[in-house]
Amino acid sequence: MNSKLPTFFDIKRYALHDGPNIRTTVFFKGCPLRCFWCHNPEGLDPSLEVVTVQERCIGCRECVGGCPEQALSWKGDAISRDESLCSLCLNCVEICPSLAHEAVGYQASIERIIGEIKKDLPFYDQSGGGVTFSGGEPLAQADYLIELLKRCGELEIHRSVDTSGYAETDRLLEVAAHTDLFLFDLKLMDSALHEKYTGVGNEQILQNLKVLSKSKATIRIRFPLVGTINDSVENVEAMGRFLSELGTIDDVDLLTYHDLAGAKYRKLQRPDLTDRAYTVTPDIVARTRQLLEQHGLTVHLER
Ligand code: SF4
Ligand code: SF4
Repeated sequence: MNSKLPTFFDIKRYALHDGPNIRTTVFFKGCPLRCFWCHNPEGLDPSLEVVTVQERCIGCRECVGGCPEQALSWKGDAISRDESLCSLCLNCVEICPSLAHEAVGYQASIERIIGEIKKDLPFYDQSGGGVTFSGGEPLAQADYLIELLKRCGELEIHRSVDTSGYAETDRLLEVAAHTDLFLFDLKLMDSALHEKYTGVGNEQILQNLKVLSKSKATIRIRFPLVGTINDSVENVEAMGRFLSELGTIDDVDLLTYHDLAGAKYRKLQRPDLTDRAYTVTPDIVARTRQLLEQHGLTVHLER
């Protein structure tokens, strides 16, 4: 990997749920959290990765001889990769005739990403949309994020940042100086539960939200509603109280859990912590909405 280039895992065009109007969403790779319900496991690891989809392999063994690090071998009836030897050269990805090896993530210069964003300028002009930096966690690559935000500002493109809020406060404020809208995730108000289900406590996140709110940044809350984890009356009430006390936030996007990420976890050979039991019923969604609205918040149902 080139340490002088940022790492991404996707760019999504014509996104309708990542901020106002039509957006181009740029996904940074790497996140310090490990939420049980994460829908983008390919964005967790900050490194580039190579995965092998065994079902696609036709057993030609071209990749074994083509790997300069001898990281690949034929074991039993499948290709095996020794991760400790793999240098991520991507030769196997190029060589394989059946596309069984896949690169996860890529590095790109700021110039190249700006070039991609510029292709959608006519859509921003027509729809009032813009660009959204998401992830992973975009603030985990704050220097590159700030550079991209500045460049988009020069082009007069509306800029949103979708963040877990888990970042150094100083860096967050630097980012805020170049951001038109924050999409700020709020998950669990109890820190011990937050740590259990995301891997980190929530003190830094709540503190950052307070600071950001005082800075007069425009913030929209994203609440991923996950059954049995954060849909209790207690959690939703605590969230409503906290947000109404801030006094600067009106909008909450309620993102209801769906269990569509299992295939991604299997492909990446990662433990899949998502679960059908996390699906929320319409009654729970309605109750959550009502509880938040009682605190003066405007709730938008998403996905
Ligand atoms: S090159 Fe592709 S199809 Fe051939 S053995 Fe390797 S993974 Fe399988
Ligand atoms: S990415 Fe390169 S080093 Fe890694 S397994 Fe493929 S060919 Fe070998």
